[in-house]
Amino acid sequence: MLAPIPNDARAEIGIIGGSGLYDPEIVRNAKEFKIYTPYGRPSDNIIVGEVEGRRVAFLPRHGRGHKIPPHRINYRANIWALKSIGVRWVIAVSAVGSLREDYRPGDIVFPDQFIDMTKKREYTFFEGPVVAHVSMADPFCPTLRKLLAEAAEEAGIRYHGSGTYVCIEGPRFSTRAESKLWRMFGADIIGMTLVPEVVLAREAQMHYATIAMVTDYDVWAEKPVTAEEVAKVMAENVEKAKKLLRLVIPRIPKPGERPGCGCEESLREALI
Ligand SMILES: [Zn+2]
Repeated sequence: MLAPIPNDARAEIGIIGGSGLYDPEIVRNAKEFKIYTPYGRPSDNIIVGEVEGRRVAFLPRHGRGHKIPPHRINYRANIWALKSIGVRWVIAVSAVGSLREDYRPGDIVFPDQFIDMTKKREYTFFEGPVVAHVSMADPFCPTLRKLLAEAAEEAGIRYHGSGTYVCIEGPRFSTRAESKLWRMFGADIIGMTLVPEVVLAREAQMHYATIAMVTDYDVWAEKPVTAEEVAKVMAENVEKAKKLLRLVIPRIPKPGERPGCGCEESLREALI
């Protein structure tokens, strides 16, 4: 918080938009803010406005125009920037590949676990002298995941209420041997952006959940798809994500309501 935050930049809910979701068109009365953090600039200006009467901040993870590759995203600046304007709830949207036959292109997954196969990212806010070992046993907010699953049910969207997301370094895709290995690990979906975003959100004591949109089968399936097919699925997925966001946002617990999950006290037993 290098400068005072103006009141109209305040928001309680953050949406981190992924591949395909760059457009904050669901945000009404939107204003744009350039935010500086001790870690540098976030991926883009943050757009703050209203969705169904709630104050919402939108940040495109790869920047508008998709200019930042997954391994170059300043995850710390993104989470810090959202936290600094008051965000307590983060809904992250991302495109993923499927590692299972029954998680089909076009399906939505609300993952409950992850496996971290990234290699060289900035994973923590705690670089010393304050040391923290934050719990990752259950990385996602159970309150948000439940609300998302209820909304998907209601909207008639094909979804999976749980799943393990393996996060690879990228920007290249997996080899066939790697893709088969992730399946042996028990991973269900694969992407490049979840880690360390989810970890930093936990360190920042925020509620965090992911809307993972399956675009295609990963290379294990040996079902080559055309760019055109992927683009079609992605466009449909983005519409589903927007529908979900409109349904979920008004149901997120308001300030003063106790959600019952431990997300906001994640540092209580983590600090040394
Ligand atoms: Zn929570």
